[in-house]
Amino acid sequence: MAEIVIKDLRKDFGDFTAVQASSFKIEDGEFFMLLGPSGCGKTTTLRMIAGLELPTSGEIWIDGEEVSQKPASARDIAFVFQMFALYPHMNVRKNISYPLVSQGMPRARVREKVAEVARILGIEDILDRPVGGLSGGDRQRVALGRAIVRDPKAFMMDEPLGALDAEFREHMAEELRALHDRMGATTVYVTHDQLEAMQMGDKIVVMNHGVIEQFGTPQDIYDKPATLFVADFIGSPAMNFLKFTGQVEAGAVEVAMHRHRFMIPEMREAFDGDMVFGVRPEHVRLSDAGDFRGEIVASEYLGTTQIVTLKTPGGRLKARIPSDQVARTGETVALGFDPATVTLFDSQSGRALR
Ligand code: ATP
Repeated sequence: MAEIVIKDLRKDFGDFTAVQASSFKIEDGEFFMLLGPSGCGKTTTLRMIAGLELPTSGEIWIDGEEVSQKPASARDIAFVFQMFALYPHMNVRKNISYPLVSQGMPRARVREKVAEVARILGIEDILDRPVGGLSGGDRQRVALGRAIVRDPKAFMMDEPLGALDAEFREHMAEELRALHDRMGATTVYVTHDQLEAMQMGDKIVVMNHGVIEQFGTPQDIYDKPATLFVADFIGSPAMNFLKFTGQVEAGAVEVAMHRHRFMIPEMREAFDGDMVFGVRPEHVRLSDAGDFRGEIVASEYLGTTQIVTLKTPGGRLKARIPSDQVARTGETVALGFDPATVTLFDSQSGRALR
């Protein structure tokens, strides 16, 4: 097991900076997600931790030892790739034993370790089958078996479920998380899928253009987005954003927007200029009373809830409401927001103002 500390990590490829000013701490035993859109620097960060890429500057500490310039072989980290490279001509047992046999581990000990891993993964009955004919899920389990059999300090996983179809992906995500909970090994997991990150992660780092936008628990990131980018990237349907120009005093709990007054959480600092009022669809209420009104232009039935799209003086917004609440297209309704769930952003920097 391992604690991993990243300090001011940076990676340049020629003139291009792929990762910069990156600092975070991964606690021992955590399932840790690196999340962000394609090209934001997730894989580069993961490769630097594993030692497959050397940083331009910054520090990587694994269990109290600074390893940033050390080779991968000195770090005792297992890297699980998206495209699992199994040895097709070998059976499952040989694939899993390979890392141990190549270390020169005695035969009897190898058999014991393989049996233990097969039990953890529930693949005891396929140990003597060739990997060529296995299902996608079993291949995935064999690849995981090969990674966990040598008891590394930590696992690095780069979109391991990326190639699977949606239904199976969800099943494997649950299995992976359960496996982690049984083994308790520190795991760093790269994904561009916000739902996967929210469901599986103990902590999440959200990256964009090589920079960390936010670092926290799934709940922190969902409830208290630090930037407009995070607010927009996390959640489906996305958070509603209403642009407006105005002035808010420090400590104020009211804001004037599009000729209406709205309650907001207490402001940390005064602000004067272009702002964005952000509220998640599940925090928009439809009622009869109130003067901020919107016309229902569409509704989408989702089982227990429905997503209603409204045209308001501040722009379009979506509300997630119970599906048994009547919402007719063409009707105009009043809208309410619980102040505790509203976030105000500086429109230019994207920084949250509370
Ligand atoms: P994806 O999910 O698409 O892999 P990512 O967030 O993992 O995205 P990285 O693979 O870390 O992103 O790449 C970050 C940026 O660095 C990209 O713009 C990529 O083109 C660039 N990059 C990565 N490796 C190299 C390299 N060896 N040489 C030059 N540029 C590179």
